[in-house]
Amino acid sequence: MSEIRHNWTKEEILEIYNKPLMELLYEAASVHRKYHDPNTVQVSTLLSIKTGGCPEDCGYCPQAARYHTDIEGNDLMTVQQVKAQALRAKASGSSRVCMGAAWRNVKDGPEFDQVLEMVRTINKLEMEVCCTLGMVTENQAKRLAEAGLYAYNHNLDTSEEYYKEVISTRGYQDRLDTIDNVRKTNVTVCSGGIIGMGEKVEDRAGMLVALSTLNPQPESVPINALVAVDGTPMEDEEPVEIWEMIRMVAVTRIVMPETQVRLSAGRTNMSREGQAMCFFAGANSIFAGDKLLTTPNPDVNEDMEMFNKLGLNPQKPFTKKVQPQTVEAEDSQYQPTGEKPKWSRPGHTIERNEEAKEKAKMLK
Ligand code: SF4
Repeated sequence: MSEIRHNWTKEEILEIYNKPLMELLYEAASVHRKYHDPNTVQVSTLLSIKTGGCPEDCGYCPQAARYHTDIEGNDLMTVQQVKAQALRAKASGSSRVCMGAAWRNVKDGPEFDQVLEMVRTINKLEMEVCCTLGMVTENQAKRLAEAGLYAYNHNLDTSEEYYKEVISTRGYQDRLDTIDNVRKTNVTVCSGGIIGMGEKVEDRAGMLVALSTLNPQPESVPINALVAVDGTPMEDEEPVEIWEMIRMVAVTRIVMPETQVRLSAGRTNMSREGQAMCFFAGANSIFAGDKLLTTPNPDVNEDMEMFNKLGLNPQKPFTKKVQPQTVEAEDSQYQPTGEKPKWSRPGHTIERNEEAKEKAKMLK
């Protein structure tokens, strides 16, 4: 196997992105076959364990409290509710449960303790557990690892330059610092981004530079197509063309050969043929379930039907890495430190975010 490169440049990535499609597909599919079984796709179920009311201003997100969207918020789910959903996900072929909470960052306290208990519970069901809870400190990452967490998701979203046009309540470096904190444990890293937010192809390449130059590269990279939700600052963005998605998946596969490339939000707008081309181009993971946090997603049965047609098999849990052990709360070596990390708040003005906020105020 060839070596993994951590020195990709934006120019090199753009050159690959802009290749004639058939050449790009052939190259990506060849890399894919070298590192993965091309007929196996990992299936995750995304569970929104705490929805809405988020203080951040991510321009794509209907969960940001400042925008007027009609999603129904909920408080943190109970461990029993999560266990019931995880069992359902397992029965329908998912090997991983990814729990998302609309938080800026993790805060030590009873809610985090409850999430740790959810992690222990799902790991004991022999499923991979992933969390996406916002920024985490090293100590919090260690506590998650000890509970049996398999992966932590924290997306870079886009390039560092374009990030300033999307979010003003935290900086790119906070994202990288969180990934770094997760890397101090055995938990794997899941980090990717969104295309179709009005960014240039150079920004997509910039994001792939940021991800591929991490050492090690993330074990999982979700590629999302923006789902433009009414009320959010990006409500008027045009849908991403399938060709852009295929190109993005293919380039991600080439520059991060060992990574599981995850087809994420936006699959409802893709035909089966389009998704099949993404699998051919190197995507080997999807989210199952009719909702992706708050936006629509294909039904599990439809996905299984597609898998049958394409001869794809769901990946078994812990195929890529052994199951982490769960340490019970009373035996934990790590306690809350009470630290108050100084995550940044750049606070610059993003016009379309401000406009959406003002519009929401008028509608309230
Ligand atoms: S993407 Fe996450 S952090 Fe940003 S507003 Fe939505 S829930 Fe909050």
